[in-house]
Amino acid sequence: MKHERATLPTPTSSNSFWHSEPNEFLIRHRTTEQLPAEADIVIVGSGITGTSAARFLAEDERAEGKSIVLLEAREACWGATGRNGGHCQPLLFDRSAEVAAFEMKNVHAVRSYIKKNNVPCEWRDVSGCRSFWTEEVMSEAEKEIAHLEKVAPALRSLVTIIRDKEELKKHRVSPEAVGVTLSQGAASLWPYKLVTFTLEQLIKAGQLNLQTNTPVNEITSTDGKHTLHTDRGAINAKKVILATNGYVSALLPHFADLIVPVRGEMSALLPPKGSTILSDSHGMVGALGQPANNDDYLVQRPFEGVPNPRGHLMFGGGRGAGHLPAIGVSDDSIIDEDSAAYLRGALLKVLELDGETEGLKELEAVGQWTGIMGYSRDDHPWVGKVPDREGLWLSGGYTGHGMPNTTLCGKAVVDMLLGEEAGQDLGTLQAQMVQSGDIPSSYLLTKERIERARAFLTVQQQDEQGVHMRGVV
Ligand SMILES: Cc1cc2nc3c(=O)[nH]c(=O)nc-3n(C[C@H](O)[C@H](O)[C@H](O)COP(=O)(O)OP(=O)(O)OC[C@H]3O[C@@H](n4cnc5c(N)ncnc54)[C@H](O)[C@@H]3O)c2cc1C
Repeated sequence: MKHERATLPTPTSSNSFWHSEPNEFLIRHRTTEQLPAEADIVIVGSGITGTSAARFLAEDERAEGKSIVLLEAREACWGATGRNGGHCQPLLFDRSAEVAAFEMKNVHAVRSYIKKNNVPCEWRDVSGCRSFWTEEVMSEAEKEIAHLEKVAPALRSLVTIIRDKEELKKHRVSPEAVGVTLSQGAASLWPYKLVTFTLEQLIKAGQLNLQTNTPVNEITSTDGKHTLHTDRGAINAKKVILATNGYVSALLPHFADLIVPVRGEMSALLPPKGSTILSDSHGMVGALGQPANNDDYLVQRPFEGVPNPRGHLMFGGGRGAGHLPAIGVSDDSIIDEDSAAYLRGALLKVLELDGETEGLKELEAVGQWTGIMGYSRDDHPWVGKVPDREGLWLSGGYTGHGMPNTTLCGKAVVDMLLGEEAGQDLGTLQAQMVQSGDIPSSYLLTKERIERARAFLTVQQQDEQGVHMRGVV
């Protein structure tokens, strides 16, 4: 079967609400006027992964004195991280306990960084409330939680199952839902503000050269050196970190069947007049007849203490209601109007919103936009060295669930790169990192894993059959 490669990020993109307060320092930013001809390490992609890699390089004394260049096709943080749902929710029971523990650790690391640096990114600790809309998906979740009880009781204790209809209402979930799970440790935030805060700091400290509006068209490799070709000239580096997520296969064609671009849709909705803030973030599985592998997700912005404090309901999903293709699509310049209509209307049906809701058929949208996720064929991110491409590293393929993964995946790739450079055996180092919970074993990028993944259904087939791949946030 032939797998289409992702294209490069499209030159124009739909307008994300998260870009309504752009970081002026970073707009059209190029730390040096000319593209440097050489760098020790080049990172491609300025989303949360690439930015995390840049930060951990700056913080690591093994990288002291190295020149780090970050190339970005668009404005800084204009890919998925600048267009997502703002959910940072560790999934505790969907995947392995190893992954759940890593996601908890990741969210803790993000929270600590934000608190320590007072990052103005609207971080809000919440409980993650996931509602299940058919008996089948609810029972499956209960089975997974029962399994977690056996293998990781401490993680299990962070999850509450609710089926009682009155209790559902207390969490503002319609009693039409079969039940919910409530997970501790989740948060909501304005991801663009987090990422651009870090980039600005790194650049001002002289630790990073950022070149925006510089798409990499191709990477050629000879004698252990990589040349990244752009319309502004070429840059050479021995080490390259690809942090291009859904767009990976535009530069690595043989990843076309492993990390597939998938277009997701978002909206920023005005809450009903007089309503009060939701205390939980929400995910809806199989709501309003959507297939169970098309989740919807919601966080709410604050009503006070921030610029533009209107309590916007940041609601995403609606893929099951859409009619345009989404799998294999790397164009986020257009929106699917049917998904957009669904997003404006659905919250009035799935939640018990308070305030003036009577007679309302839909909520007013102040923004609707799309973004490109990177769906992984085996449902796990790919983190490590690209086989047979010495010096080329990758972290991507988060299957629509990047916020609780990307920061420490970016760190892991840096630790692997610097550790190997310092003479450590990569296999031994990775085994140690797995042992200490710095990366789940299932995320490691190896030849064997690639072979295993290729025996699975394709991302397209999984989507059509509604199996395994969930794309949950
Ligand atoms: C609509 C939507 C909603 C989502 N909601 C959530 C959510 O609520 N919670 C959650 O956990 N996850 C969510 N996700 C997923 C999450 O946003 C991603 O997993 C995460 O942002 C990935 O970060 P990244 O830095 O790896 O990729 P991106 O943020 O996509 O960054 C990649 C960057 O690389 C650049 N680039 C690509 N190719 C090239 C090239 N050839 N040359 C130069 N630059 C290039 C792109 O322009 C982009 O800026 C959502 C995603 C979408 C699209």
